[in-house]
Amino acid sequence: MSEVLKLTDLRRAYSQGGQTIHVLRGVNLSIAQGEIVALVGPSGSGKSTLLQAVGLLEGGFEGSIRIAGEEAAQLDNDGRTRVRRDSLGFVYQFHHLLPDFTAQENVVLPQIIHGATRAEADARAKTLLTTLGLSHRLDHRPSKLSGGEQQRVAVARALANRPALVLADEPTGNLDEATADIVLVEFLRLVREEGSAALIATHNERLAARMDRVVRLHDGVLG
Ligand code: ADP
Ligand code: MG
Repeated sequence: MSEVLKLTDLRRAYSQGGQTIHVLRGVNLSIAQGEIVALVGPSGSGKSTLLQAVGLLEGGFEGSIRIAGEEAAQLDNDGRTRVRRDSLGFVYQFHHLLPDFTAQENVVLPQIIHGATRAEADARAKTLLTTLGLSHRLDHRPSKLSGGEQQRVAVARALANRPALVLADEPTGNLDEATADIVLVEFLRLVREEGSAALIATHNERLAARMDRVVRLHDGVLG
């Protein structure tokens, strides 16, 4: 299976104040194994809507979403949960780390849920966090970490279960420019090392240019 994501004629409309807004008007996109794709578009163009569709969290979409060969429309609730857990990793603009857990525990937990032993999960969490330069922050809670460090932990967590595809919605949008550059470069390096594919929404053209391919959302379709 060389294709991790295939979107065919994906559509999404929202009702707002009695009006219907067509946000996605027939999006087609294929992402190959290991490919890192930048999803670019101005604010309000539908980047988050597209990522939510692929993340299988929301309904209301038309068209086809295939993730690692599985057709989303044919999955029930358990099936969607399984695909999310087995094939997808998520990084958001705000880290959404669990505040009462340490950096390491935040990376361990999804692995335990996925069936890893505590020892395996601990070892992998340490490896990932060390690769991201956080070997001295393993036992810190999120509130004791800088913004850049928090996002690095979120990156490690997203990759913990070796997802085929990482979805990232403005992953460095909450960081200052210099920190955003460093964290994004590390994020991309780790995704490459791990062999995952990624779809990364950003409105930063400079950061998008560092990825394998740039797709642009404009008037509800990808150009
Ligand atoms: P982006 O992430 O590119 O900024 P979004 O996907 O967040 O764009 O939003 C695209 C459009 O869809 C915007 O016009 C936004 O107002 C609208 N929209 C997004 N989510 C909802 C929702 N839950 N209900 C109604 N409209 C929404
Ligand atoms: Mg958005």
